[in-house]
Amino acid sequence: MNFATSLLHSACGMDKRTGASSVPIYQASTYHYFDIDQPGRYDYARSGNPTREALEETIALLEGGARGFAFASGMAAVSSVCLLFSAGDHLIVAEDVYGGTFRFLTRILTRLGIDVTFVDTTQLEQVSKAIRPQTKGIYLETPSNPILKVTDVAAICQLARSHGLLTIVDNTFLTPYYQRPLELGADIVIHSATKFIGGHSDVVAGLAVVKSAELAEKLYLIQNGFGAVLGVQDSWLVMRGLKTLKTRLDASTASAQKLAEWLQLQPQVKKVYYTGLPDHPGHHIQLRQASGHGAVLAFDVGSRENVKRLFAALQIPLVAVSLGAVESILSYPAMMSHAAMPPEEREQRGITEGLLRLSVGLEEFEDLQADFAQALQTLLPAASLPG
Ligand SMILES: *Cc1c(COP(=O)(O)O)cnc(C)c1O
Repeated sequence: MNFATSLLHSACGMDKRTGASSVPIYQASTYHYFDIDQPGRYDYARSGNPTREALEETIALLEGGARGFAFASGMAAVSSVCLLFSAGDHLIVAEDVYGGTFRFLTRILTRLGIDVTFVDTTQLEQVSKAIRPQTKGIYLETPSNPILKVTDVAAICQLARSHGLLTIVDNTFLTPYYQRPLELGADIVIHSATKFIGGHSDVVAGLAVVKSAELAEKLYLIQNGFGAVLGVQDSWLVMRGLKTLKTRLDASTASAQKLAEWLQLQPQVKKVYYTGLPDHPGHHIQLRQASGHGAVLAFDVGSRENVKRLFAALQIPLVAVSLGAVESILSYPAMMSHAAMPPEEREQRGITEGLLRLSVGLEEFEDLQADFAQALQTLLPAASLPG
């Protein structure tokens, strides 16, 4: 089956027992033992339930893995996967990893005796140099947030394999529609399903998919033992969102490409970051390892003052953290996702006072463009921009 068909006719499709057009929400915490000697498939809903399982089977199929797991949030997926490691282990992590992941790794995981080194994973030698005898895994996010740096997943996976390390990829920004890290050699894929997979800004959820049966057994022990499982109502909502993933991404990505190209021509915009632009440093790697560029772009309007003017004038986008929804969402990394980072460090990473991240939604492109056009008119002219 092709991707679009799998979204509708895999485990999240018709209910085989009743023919219902959507998977039933089994709102039950426990299951009757019909025969004490021969327990049924389900006994307690944290350990397994048919609604969550349908979502887990679907994401495993879409990512091409041995087994999928649904968690209470993207961070629950990240932290549960990190519990595969033990005290004394060392991890190499992409330096511009998601802020919540950075917080978990530096403030919680290190307390458990798991050491972390952050490197620019777009530079293979930096990753190679960071490997120690205790290193057990490499954690990637590509394209990265917010300036969309592209890491060569296959190259890192090859390096990892030659040292016996696990590779974990946060695939939130592209989803399995555009990028399948397991096919590029990764061992585990993680999603914040709160974003494109859920797709409607109405549910917080996380997913993980593992490549092998051996990892499946280990992660199941953690999912059931740590217990950060996704509830049945939210599992159903994620499945509903997932059905339209391809159609939503096709539309949003087409608009993101047009908007990125158009923003590049606007005198008030200093720089545009989008992997679909041929001058993006990661453009060619992206073309090789992914089938699309996604719906997230970033652009720099030069100053905090201009950001404020833009926010005040724009009518359409939601100004918020988060991304990957039916509505366009504009966020201000310096004050939102990266507020905790020291200003010098932020600037050094390109997360300037004028940088905005836009997750393009399903609005008519002409309406979005017109809205940005009128809002950009209110900014201070480029000549007065610093730098
Ligand atoms: C949002 C996000 C997360 C965390 O997911 P939650 O669902 O908010 O817990 C992890 N990684 C990336 C790339 C994200 O955008």
